[in-house]
Amino acid sequence: MLTRLGVAGWPVAHSLSPAIQNAALAAAGLTEWRYLRLPLPPERFAETVRALPAAGFRGINVTIPHKRAALALADAASPVATAVGAANTLTFERSGAIHADNTDVPGLLEALPADPAGMTALVLGAGGAARAAVYALRSAGAADVMVWNRTRERAERLVAELGGRVVDAPEAAALVVNCTSVGLREADAPFKSLPIRADTFGVGSYVADMVYGPGGTRLLAEAKRRGATVVTGLQILIAQGAASFERWTGMTASREAMFAAVDHTAQST
Ligand code: NAP
Repeated sequence: MLTRLGVAGWPVAHSLSPAIQNAALAAAGLTEWRYLRLPLPPERFAETVRALPAAGFRGINVTIPHKRAALALADAASPVATAVGAANTLTFERSGAIHADNTDVPGLLEALPADPAGMTALVLGAGGAARAAVYALRSAGAADVMVWNRTRERAERLVAELGGRVVDAPEAAALVVNCTSVGLREADAPFKSLPIRADTFGVGSYVADMVYGPGGTRLLAEAKRRGATVVTGLQILIAQGAASFERWTGMTASREAMFAAVDHTAQST
């Protein structure tokens, strides 16, 4: 019987996870494993997930809007998932228990080209991705984690739970992590909608954008043009996906195969 994996979201049609995970399965010689798309509306999430082990599923990734619900339905959770308050990875154990992890945290740290210990950092956003980023940067020893969000109260709640400090007008930071969905659609949006200026980026600074899409984002294109080191949403996606893969299979995921499987235009910035 096939061993199944998948990604549950609503919507999930745009997800690159099936392409990258199936490439990693093939590279690892796991020919009897398949990774599927699972479009699940919120009202059917918990009931459907509980039925997956009987259908041959070993685990799933979970994306918008199910990350909190995934943590809530799990029988056990990693300390990271518990601290962040969200899970992006569920594993169906042989005992029947559902275990929740958050690989967005190690994924971001793996994708960063430098150790954030001692760095000043600015996290833009206060949703699920921002929660994982703030937790990751604080646990890795960033010196100062500023959090800005369009809706200030949400940033206040995040900081009260995970640390860092809320800012209305952020100071320049060595590392900027965009965890808002700005840049997903509107090509010019980042510098209109976010409290950052392109002229603060330069050699020695780091800019990461959680958003990924064909052709990269305007934010990263501008940061790169000014000499900053950039981290794409695709690099972060692959690093978190590799960590999930390793949790389910016990094998190392080929990042090279995962990159090769997705459109090369999505990697360029
Ligand atoms: P979320 O919980 O819905 O949060 C969205 C965030 O974007 C909120 O902080 C929201 O601010 C902000 N925002 C939306 N539109 C805005 C605008 N026009 N101006 C300013 N701020 C705006 O979503 P999420 O789960 O954190 O995900 C955020 C993004 O990261 C998505 O694009 C997602 O696809 C991406 N992501 C990528 C990875 C990866 O592996 N690369 C992993 C996770 C997420 P308010 O609070 O004011 O609404």
